[in-house]
This record gives sequence, C-alpha cells and structure tokens, in this order.
Amino acid sequence: MEQPRDVLIRFHEVALKGRNRPMFINALVEGVRRATQGLGVRRVWTGRLMVRLEMEPGADWPAVRARLTTVSGIAKFALAHRTGAEYDAIAGLVREVLRGERFASFRIITNRADKRFALTSQEMNARLGEQVRVESGARVSLTRPEVEVRVEILPREAFVYVSETQGAGGLPTGTGGRVAVLMSGGIDSPVAAWRMMRRGCRAVLIHFHAFPLVEGRSREKARELAELLNAYQYDTRLYLVPFAPLQQQVLLAVPPEFRVVAYRRFMVRIAEAIARRDGARALVTGESLGQVGSQTLTNITTIDAVATMPILRPLIGMDKQEIVAQAQRIGTFETSILPDEDCCTLFTPRSPSTAVHVETAAHVERSLPIEELVAQAVAASEVHDYVMGTPARARQPA
Ligand code: ATP
Ligand code: MG
Repeated sequence: MEQPRDVLIRFHEVALKGRNRPMFINALVEGVRRATQGLGVRRVWTGRLMVRLEMEPGADWPAVRARLTTVSGIAKFALAHRTGAEYDAIAGLVREVLRGERFASFRIITNRADKRFALTSQEMNARLGEQVRVESGARVSLTRPEVEVRVEILPREAFVYVSETQGAGGLPTGTGGRVAVLMSGGIDSPVAAWRMMRRGCRAVLIHFHAFPLVEGRSREKARELAELLNAYQYDTRLYLVPFAPLQQQVLLAVPPEFRVVAYRRFMVRIAEAIARRDGARALVTGESLGQVGSQTLTNITTIDAVATMPILRPLIGMDKQEIVAQAQRIGTFETSILPDEDCCTLFTPRSPSTAVHVETAAHVERSLPIEELVAQAVAASEVHDYVMGTPARARQPA
C-alpha cells in the first residue's frame, strides 16, 4: 500500500470556541508550519474541524511526527490513508489498512463532516464493522477495543486511520500574548517558561549572569536552555543581562541577609524594562512557595512591590519532584543540572532572611542609584534570537 501523506490534526474544541476561533486556528496552522519546516511538508491549512497537513512523497514521517508532538494546541493527530468519499472506496481502504494486522477486538468510529453523505455515521460503523468482523474474525468492542478504526468523511474525500498520536495539548503559540520569563540556569524556571508557552504565550527569556565576577557556565546554560525551549515555540529571544556591576553595589549597601531579596527586586525592575520594550505584558518566575528561604509569602510580597506588571508564577503550588519530572519530559533537566555558579548565591549567607518586609527592602536600597543601575543593565544586555532551522544570532540591543 502507498505510504500515506495526509496528517489530520485535532485541537481541543472547547478551548477554541467563540469569536476568537479563527485567530486560534490560524495560530495553530502557523505553529504547525514552523514546527515542520524543512521536513518535506507540502502544505498546512485549515480543514473542517481540524488542521490538515500534506507531506511531499518520501517525506520523513517519524521526524514530522516528533515535531508535531511539541506544537502547543494539538490534542491528537494521525497519519491517514486517503480515498474518495464513496462507500465502496472507504470499505476497500479499511480492508487494506487492516490487512496483516492481528487483533481480537475492534471498533469503527465514523465522523461525517459532510452530512450529505448517503449513510449516517451509525450506519457506516455498522456496515464497516460487519465487514471487518467477518473478514478478521475479531469481535466488536465499543469499550476497550484493541484496534480503533477511524473514518473521516469530508465533502470530496475520505480518510481512514488506525493509530493516533497524543499532542502536547494547551493553546496555540501566540494566542496568549508575550511574557518575559526570568530564567536562571536552574531546573524550575525553564519549566515555568514551558508552562506559559503551552498556554499560548510567547516567552521572551531573560537571564542574569555574574560574569566576570564568577567564571561560571550560566550563560552557556541559558543559551542551551533557550535552544531547547525554542522547540516549543520556534522563535525565541534570549537576553543575557550582566548582573555583576549591580551586585558589587548591592554588596556595599545591603546587609547580607537582605541581599537575595534585593537582587530579586533588581531583577524584576530590569526584566520589566526589557519586557516593556519587547512588548511583553507580564513577568514569569520559577518560584514555588516555600521551596527555599527566599520564596516565602513575605518575600514574594516584597519582590512584587517593585513590579508594575503582574508576576506570574506557574509553579507556585508544585512540589520539587513534580517540577523535576516535568523538566525531564520537556528535555531541559539534563542541562539544568550542569554545575554552575548562580549569581544570586554570590555573597549571600546560607540562610537569608525569610521575612524581608517591604519597608526594610526600601530602606536598605535607599542609597543605591536604582534607575541608573537598571538602565545600565538593560543597555549592557546581549540579545540572542533562536529561529527554527537557523543558527542563533547574537547582537547588542538597539
Ligand atoms: P530555578 O530552578 O528556576 O533556578 P530556584 O528554585 O533555584 O529556581 P531561586 O534561585 O530562588 O529558585 O530563584 C527564583 C526565581 O528567580 C527563579 O525561578 C527565576 O525565575 C528567577 N531567577 C533566579 N536567578 C535568576 C537568574 N540568574 N536569571 C534570571 N532569573 C533568575
Ligand atoms: Mg536557581
């Protein structure tokens, strides 16, 4: 039988209801296009209740499949055999598709996007089911079939397939607006970035490094993580922000137990300045409540006090094991655990204050030229852009 070249892509109907529907579907089509670039995909377009993809002859289906599993907004997808929208053609194709398959139970699920088709879905299921039962000797099981044969009837064509691949779920990239993620080289913040991407946000990544105060590999890690995360949105901007000059000033002005919170407040101010310029409307961190001393409600309140944008914390209620498991699934874990020196542990005591009040933070920062430090950091930041299929480009921001 000829290698099929049509892929049927489903999205979660509920999420795509209402007036925004065309916008969501267009974003999904765009996401699929970008994800499958360079893999011999002839076209991607909006079909009836699904997104359609057609491959060139000889395209690398396993590679296309692997990429499709990363696209946000896909519920399920399948490589489908195509034929004409006539009963005999469909019945013949079902026979061909099942030839050589061994199974004890099955069911047929027909979907008619074209309601003018002569038989109802029920009638199709019954007639095709009878054919398969007689020819294979297998029994029909509506609850737990070993094989599920899906028949999709469109106005001019019909499709048959037996196996579907689970998609990433979530919402299409770009439908949720832009967010700026404070991304350390650690385990948590890349997971936070991915969680926002899966909800349709485009994530701009911001990494603060203490080079040359520490040699550290944190910049290389951030670049590697950006490249890994780019597999989920296919167009990623990473800002590398030098934090050392600012840290040296904080060191002189701020007592040790308050430094972590002071560092965080500066990160928020700088990230906001970058976010505003980049069109991002919220900040994102990888904090999870109580995970470390700096992530208490009091400290979070004090950190939030300098923000004018919302700070989203998608991991706030997650346990470390859950975050680690997610990092492993999305492929960032191995990079995150590479050794490096975090800029925030620099010159800070082992147990920083768990309750830095807003007034205290403001008081210890009072002698610092805050706006100047923020502007300097923004100006000295380095930008890397990751686009699918092209090497990263680095440049100074305009
Ligand atoms: P992670 O695993 O993301 O490093 P963590 O559990 O180590 O998080 P902290 O080190 O307290 O927690 O950092 C809390 C959050 O602050 C991080 O999740 C991240 O969003 C932000 N952050 C910390 N360090 C940096 C950094 N060097 N650059 C950018 N953001 C940072
Ligand atoms: Mg960390």
